[in-house]
Amino acid sequence: MRIVRFSYKKRVYFGIQEKEKLRLLKSPPFEKIKPGRNLVPLSAVKILTPTEPSKIVLVGLNYRDHALELKMLVPQEPVIFLKPPTASLAHNGSIIYPAGVGQLDYEAELAIVIRKTAGNIVPARVKDYILGYTCLNDVTARDLQKKDIQWTRAKSFDTFCPFGPWVETDLEPNKARIVSRLNGVVKQDSNTSNFIFPVESLVSFVSSVMTLFPGDVISTGTPPGVGPMQPGDTVEVEIEGIGILKNPVKSA
Ligand code: MG
Repeated sequence: MRIVRFSYKKRVYFGIQEKEKLRLLKSPPFEKIKPGRNLVPLSAVKILTPTEPSKIVLVGLNYRDHALELKMLVPQEPVIFLKPPTASLAHNGSIIYPAGVGQLDYEAELAIVIRKTAGNIVPARVKDYILGYTCLNDVTARDLQKKDIQWTRAKSFDTFCPFGPWVETDLEPNKARIVSRLNGVVKQDSNTSNFIFPVESLVSFVSSVMTLFPGDVISTGTPPGVGPMQPGDTVEVEIEGIGILKNPVKSA
């Protein structure tokens, strides 16, 4: 099932996609999915970020093939960091290249969307707490990441967290092809079967640190092939079974 958050005639809704239409939900999809009777045409809506997260938690190195590329040891436990909700950007929204940034990189990632409040969840119970999965681009000012040592500024500018276009509820998250394209040219092409920490252990680990709320997002790290974007470029993240997240890059 594909759950879309969108605006239509100046109001915000959640809906389930049925071919070229969206069936409105009676309430947000987090505790229970309650389809209503009303349908609106997909072509008439503006797609928004799939949720408004209280926090976006991301994982550093999590692909074996990326660890090999960087000649880094496989970490013993996940290294996590945050992006603020103000970095959120919807499908088709513009990534703003900040003035003074020397290198702006794309990072294609699979993101997990949380369904209900979660604290200290054991891996075997994690699936009960997941609404579904979406595409995410962990946009990074690489020069600032190196200069600042810690990552907050490099990862947190407004528009540095495109995610979407929707949440797919039926996906085997540890076995999906993930691709990024810059101006139509494939730059990253891997599979989440290369995860060092699968979805179950990541959510369990993060929930042992902080309480997760409905709509929160956990991003699972990026495969090899990250690289720079320029104003005027268009970047896409495609995940098999979900779809394509597409964003243009513009100068500030
Ligand atoms: Mg990343």
